[in-house]
Amino acid sequence: MSSRVFNFSPGPAMLPEPVIQQMQTELLDYRGLGMSVMEMSHRGKDFVALTQRCESLLRDILAIPDEYALLYMTGGASGQYAAIPFNLLKGRTSAAYVDTGAWSRKAIAEAERYTEVHIAAKSTAQLPDAYHVRGDEAYLHYVDNETIHGVEYVHPPTETGLPLIADMSSNLLSKPLDVSSFDMFYAGTQKNLGIAGLTLVVIRRDCLGFAHPLTPSIMNYQVMADSHSLYNTAPTFPWYALACSAEWVAREGGLAEMDRRAKWRSAALYRYIDQSDFYRNDVCKAARSRMNVVFTLPDPQLEQIFVAEAAKVGLVNLKGHRSVGGIRASLYNSMPEEAIEALLTFMQAFEDKYQ
Ligand code: PMP
Repeated sequence: MSSRVFNFSPGPAMLPEPVIQQMQTELLDYRGLGMSVMEMSHRGKDFVALTQRCESLLRDILAIPDEYALLYMTGGASGQYAAIPFNLLKGRTSAAYVDTGAWSRKAIAEAERYTEVHIAAKSTAQLPDAYHVRGDEAYLHYVDNETIHGVEYVHPPTETGLPLIADMSSNLLSKPLDVSSFDMFYAGTQKNLGIAGLTLVVIRRDCLGFAHPLTPSIMNYQVMADSHSLYNTAPTFPWYALACSAEWVAREGGLAEMDRRAKWRSAALYRYIDQSDFYRNDVCKAARSRMNVVFTLPDPQLEQIFVAEAAKVGLVNLKGHRSVGGIRASLYNSMPEEAIEALLTFMQAFEDKYQ
C-alpha cells in the first residue's frame, strides 16, 4: 500500500490498514454468504450475529459492567447534544455544563433550547480547577477531549456528585476508563471507532425510561435499548466497521496499549515543540491532548506554506480548525510511529528552512 499517506485528519480519520484490508477481503463475499455486509438485512441472523460480536468485544475492551446498555444511534455526537436533555433531565429544570472549548459550547447551545444551563466551569487551554453547581441540576456534561483546542481530561470531573455525562467523540477507545464513574458517555464512530455514520452510547440501565414525552422515538434511549438499536434501518456498514475496529484494538493489546501508544506519539511531538522557538503550543501541560496536538508557527502565512509542503511529502490534513487556525495533528489509534518520525523530520527541515 505504498500510495497511502499519513493522514492527520481530525475525523473522519485514518483507519488501521488491517481494518481496511479486512473490509476489502470481505466486501464481495462476507464470510461465505455470497454478499457484502452492505446488502444484508439489518434484522437477519448474520447481521444480528455481527452486532452481538461487536457488543461483546466492546464490553470486554472497555470493561463495561452488565448494568450498562450499549446503544448504536445515528445523528452523531451533535444528535446526542439534543438527545441528552430529552432523555436525562428526568423532570428537572436545569443541567450543568463544563465549557472547555468549541464542542462544549455546541453542547451547551443545543441544551439551552430545552433547559436552563448552569456553566459549572469555563476554561481555555487548561482544565478547570473548580466546579460550581447548585446540586439540583439533572447532570454534569463535559467534553473529555476538545478536538479543536487540543485539551484533554486525565481524570473525569467526578467531584460535583452530579450524574456525569461525557462526550468522548475524539478519545473513546484510546485509554482505559472506569465506566462506573459515568451515567452515560458517547462518541461518534468516525475517529477511533471506525467510520462516520454511527454513534456509540454507553448508559447505565437505571437511566433509561425517563424520556420527555415529546422525545422523538429515534432519540429515545429506552426505545433504542428495547429494540437492540434496530428501531429503524441501522447504518449497517458503519456498524460493521465498528466491529472490525474493536477487533483490531483487542488484537493489538486493548486500551492499555492504545494509551501507551497515544502517550508516546503525543509526547514525542510536544517534546519537539517545547524545545523549539519556532513552533508553539499554549495548552497547559497537564491538559494537553494525546489525540489532537495543536500548534502555531510565527505567522499564519507560514502555516499555509507548512500545510502545503507537508502534503507534498505525504503528511496530509494538518490544517487547524478554521475557527482557531494554526496546525493540528490528529493522532488517533491508527497513527503509526513512523508517521510521527516523518512529521518530526519534516518539522525540523521546515524550521531550518524558514526560521
Ligand atoms: N464532539 C467532539 C469532541 C467532536 O470532536 C465532534 C466532531 N469532530 C463532535 C462532537 C461532533 O460530532 P458529529 O459530527 O459526529 O456530530
